[in-house]
Amino acid sequence: MALLEIENLQTDFVSHGGSVRAVNDLSFQVNSGEIVALVGESGCGKSVTSMSVLRLLPEATTRTDGVIRFDGINLLDLSEAEMRRLRGKAIAMVFQEPMTSLNPVLTVGRQIQETLKIHEKLSRAQARQRAIDMLTLVGIPAPDQRIDEYPHQLSGGMRQRVMIAIALACNPKLLIADEPTTALDVTIQAQILDLIRDLNKRLGSAVIFITHDLGVVAEVADRVIVMYAGRKVEEAQVDALFTDPRHPYTKGLLGAMPVLGSSLSDEAPQSLAEIRGQVPALNKPIVGCVFASRCDLAFERCRHEAPLMTRLGDGHAVACHLEGGAHA
Ligand code: SF4
Ligand code: MG
Repeated sequence: MALLEIENLQTDFVSHGGSVRAVNDLSFQVNSGEIVALVGESGCGKSVTSMSVLRLLPEATTRTDGVIRFDGINLLDLSEAEMRRLRGKAIAMVFQEPMTSLNPVLTVGRQIQETLKIHEKLSRAQARQRAIDMLTLVGIPAPDQRIDEYPHQLSGGMRQRVMIAIALACNPKLLIADEPTTALDVTIQAQILDLIRDLNKRLGSAVIFITHDLGVVAEVADRVIVMYAGRKVEEAQVDALFTDPRHPYTKGLLGAMPVLGSSLSDEAPQSLAEIRGQVPALNKPIVGCVFASRCDLAFERCRHEAPLMTRLGDGHAVACHLEGGAHA
């Protein structure tokens, strides 16, 4: 069953100089209990998509259109007060640590309890016990001692576990995790991915997992949305994406993936060198296929007509003129 349905999402950043279409006609859904990865290079619109869902983009400089239906309600119709009640409760988030580091002057226990206090009526003792339970759940050893420690007393991996504990404290239906392991070393990263998968199975929260790392996608996702220049270019079950990629961009990403766990990140731009050329500017309309300027297979039609999403069966869909079949 669809928990989140995004239909024709369009997010523009508007300034005096013009506007940038960061997300363009994006549609996808997330079912209850499922882990969906949004993958693509930095700037492809994956974080903007999550910020649009959470309604965290500044209203003065962004315009969001389309439908973001969560549990049957269009989030774009809600007031800010109604959104605040949802954020952190029904929809929780974990970011790459540097973006939303923990509050350095509060103990980790206090920070979990603060979240609980906003959304639930618990006594002090109950909240403390819940915080200890959450720390246990995310695999923090000696939780009854750790609860009184400050963030700087914990390692990066432990801090990210605490962030996950905070995110899951109110039993969210949907967890949005934006590059949650990017700042961590490979071993710790693998542990955190295991933890997210394990918690997803045990608690049943659906997860949107945002990453530029196909190794991470292979580890964690049930289904994958590949984004390029603000658009969805391919969608598939994770196995199908890796064994039978259909979009030239997806093929390029997979070809540019030297080893599992290596990345297509800002920090390692050379890993994308096999896909020549540049992502098109998003401040003017793109005519034709968004990938045409970099696609080795581009032909005449690609330059003046944007390909529609074509359904290939079994949830696999691709936006490329080279694929026939029924349009989605
Ligand atoms: Fe390449 Fe054309 Fe397919 Fe776009 S539509 S990915 S340019 S072949
Ligand atoms: Mg990002």
